[in-house]
Amino acid sequence: MPQAQDPIARNALPWSTMLANLQINSQRLWDSLIDTAKFGGTEKGGIKRLALSDEDKQVRDWFKAQCEALGCTVAADEVGNMFATRPGRDNTLPPIAMGSHLDTQPTGGKFDGVLGVLAALEVMRTLHEQDYETNAPIEIVNWTNEEGSRFPPAMLASGVFAGVFPPQYAYERADREGITFLQELERIGYRGPIRAGDHKLSAMFELHIEQGPILEDEKKMIGVVTGVQGMRWYEITIKGQDAHTGATPMHLRKNALVGAARIIDAVDAIGLRHQPGVATVGLIENKPNSRNVVPGEVFLTVDLRHPDENALDEMETELRSALAQTIPALTLTYDEKKIWSSSAVKFAPELIECVRAATTKSGFDSRDMVSGAGHDAAYVARVAPTTMIFVPCEGGLSHNEAESTSHEECAAGAQVLLDAVLAYDQTLRGDAPR
Ligand SMILES: [Zn+2]
Repeated sequence: MPQAQDPIARNALPWSTMLANLQINSQRLWDSLIDTAKFGGTEKGGIKRLALSDEDKQVRDWFKAQCEALGCTVAADEVGNMFATRPGRDNTLPPIAMGSHLDTQPTGGKFDGVLGVLAALEVMRTLHEQDYETNAPIEIVNWTNEEGSRFPPAMLASGVFAGVFPPQYAYERADREGITFLQELERIGYRGPIRAGDHKLSAMFELHIEQGPILEDEKKMIGVVTGVQGMRWYEITIKGQDAHTGATPMHLRKNALVGAARIIDAVDAIGLRHQPGVATVGLIENKPNSRNVVPGEVFLTVDLRHPDENALDEMETELRSALAQTIPALTLTYDEKKIWSSSAVKFAPELIECVRAATTKSGFDSRDMVSGAGHDAAYVARVAPTTMIFVPCEGGLSHNEAESTSHEECAAGAQVLLDAVLAYDQTLRGDAPR
């Protein structure tokens, strides 16, 4: 392994002397966003481009042709992840990747995922146009089936890339008609020869719309994403006894809904105590749900999220002690099950620094943030230094045909992506002073 990959051997700051003065072409980026929206374009101005559909093939073919026109080599791995690579000065270094996804929800918008890939294409076009030579190869990745709306689960192929799922698991996923991922991958001609785990990256930067309201609310242009929060889901059933509301005195009731009410309040308090963590009861079923019956059984769900796993542990402990203290005291019983969890991800500090430097260079207002949603980057972070850049989206709206990010915001994201990638590339110089 070349010594330059050792983080200790990386070049030191200051960044100001290391950032090149390249400018992306914001109109060209915008035109590509509008142009490619025709592949699966909907009447309401959104996109329906399900993974491995004919529309997905069309946008993949377009993307491949655009990259090849810049002299990039385009290859696919065994689950259809596409890699468009531009050589650097030292091609023994694994490429620095910029990636996101070109598939959408059934009623998706023009920016979720697409911006990350097309801004990367704009970066590639800028490097090509300026004849800029990087140290490491630079690469654009289009991750297959990020949305998971046709082939659940979400982030399927970046998951295979990161070793979370075996390729066979991805191949066997089927859509509602029973058509498998593998059948469709082969039909559209994107089952590549590369074994998913064999393709190494020096780093991966993912530009994405925020999908939440914080940047817009605080009038910030760039979100410097430091990680993805951990998530845990629970199902709780509280049991009491159905009884007549008129004939059953208060002190003899076993009212499961009163137990649920206290738990809902306790969950809210847990969220408030552990901010920026969040805690939600989002679903409740009351039985028998009749006006003159004391409720005998309530089912409810709890969703706990926090950027820090230790804090999540504390939130979980508090939930369990709230149940243990509250429910038996009401002469009720309960059953609690953790049904799903996803660990918190912390992105690579050296990449986050590059994003910060890029943001400062252009004078954009920014804030640190943790992603509330899952992204390909969360899986890729398991196998390569990874980070994300967020730009605002109108009203925090996403997974919606009305999803909107302005020309200016898209341009800002692409410029930060370019500068962050070049800053990181500078740290990989084999001949850097030690
Ligand atoms: Zn996305």
